[in-house]
Amino acid sequence: MGGGVRERIEQVRRRIAEAAGRSDRDPNGVELVAVTKSVAVSQIREALDAGLKVFGENRVQEAKGKVALLGSPSTQWHLVGTLQTNKSKLAVELFDLIHSLDSVKLAASMDRHGAALRKQVRALIEVNLGGESDKSGLHESELLPLLQACRAYAHLTIEGLMAIPPFHRNPQDARPFFRRLRLLRDEAADTHPDYRLRHLSMGMSNDFEVAIEEGATLVRIGTAIFGNRVEA
Ligand SMILES: *Cc1c(COP(=O)(O)O)cnc(C)c1O
Repeated sequence: MGGGVRERIEQVRRRIAEAAGRSDRDPNGVELVAVTKSVAVSQIREALDAGLKVFGENRVQEAKGKVALLGSPSTQWHLVGTLQTNKSKLAVELFDLIHSLDSVKLAASMDRHGAALRKQVRALIEVNLGGESDKSGLHESELLPLLQACRAYAHLTIEGLMAIPPFHRNPQDARPFFRRLRLLRDEAADTHPDYRLRHLSMGMSNDFEVAIEEGATLVRIGTAIFGNRVEA
């Protein structure tokens, strides 16, 4: 994987367009979320200079410093990692979209902080499709009950679903999980037609093309843009 951040972004954009083309989709219907966890501010600046507008972080505290340094009205910050209720106030303040709503308790807390800030909080519901106990997200059987419960929360807008399938070396093995998430979204849209569940946040560096073929509207990509992370 050669080149600088700018070249890799161009490559990723090209691959997004090709995957969209293969599935008769408009490439503009796929938003690239550049995942910048543990990425240095100088590298994020390169991505900004290359025209990226949407950034994803997975820790609230780490994002706070970066938003303070790099935030601007034309830049969006998404929370893609697990959110603990005790961090939800700061998360609601910082982020434009929270991909990891997975409980009624968290929904209630996000709604309360949204009301206090007079902010409409946008969120996706994270589904744990692999049933992996060490991963966040709710079980798919809890999805419709959570959507039902969210009717009580006027400051919360649910815009779709997110999932992180179990890791597979072969991206084709992730396809059934992406397909499942799309089906769950379609079912939820049928039973709750007044929600606008337009987003499917699925696909990472290893499997985003397959995710796009299966309907992803948000792909969360770190390594393919910024190189391998040195995990903290
Ligand atoms: C780190 C991370 C990504 C990006 O993963 P890459 O494999 O580096 O593209 C996407 N989504 C979430 C939730 C992550 O934590």
